Amino acid sequence: MIEKKYSIYKFYANWDQDDFENNCTGYSIMYKENPSAERLENELKEFKLRILSKHNGVIFKNAEYEFVEEESWCLGWFNHYTFNEFENDLEIEDNFRDYVNRKETSNLKNGHQRNDMNMSLDLKEHPYYCLMGAEDYYRWKICRCEDCTKLGKITIDH
Ligand SMILES: [Zn+2]
Repeated sequence: MIEKKYSIYKFYANWDQDDFENNCTGYSIMYKENPSAERLENELKEFKLRILSKHNGVIFKNAEYEFVEEESWCLGWFNHYTFNEFENDLEIEDNFRDYVNRKETSNLKNGHQRNDMNMSLDLKEHPYYCLMGAEDYYRWKICRCEDCTKLGKITIDH
């Protein structure tokens, strides 16, 4: 089976608010088709609106997006997702295993441990890819929720 890869973009923001300084958040999105600049700008606008609706007196220091990589899976909050182009669960798990192995190998090559970032390294030169526990195969659970089905996504919780 050919490994399908999709564009992943990261959105992140840094701001001061009434009761707190230097707050920040961010997330990654995987796009099935390469997103237009307009689509990315819209996402950024909505991202900022969500922050404004949750906190008082927000003054943005930055709010940006950037292209991360072409990959087969995208990291969420203790899960990974991709688009469902698979025949069965076995294909899903094989594909995810390849991805996890690839990221682990790259972490090791960059001087990190299997499950742990080496804090003494300069992360610009030795990037660490956080897998949020996906290293532990026994934790994997394919999500069967309505949202995933509706959006044509496969999510593996871990
Ligand atoms: Zn789901």
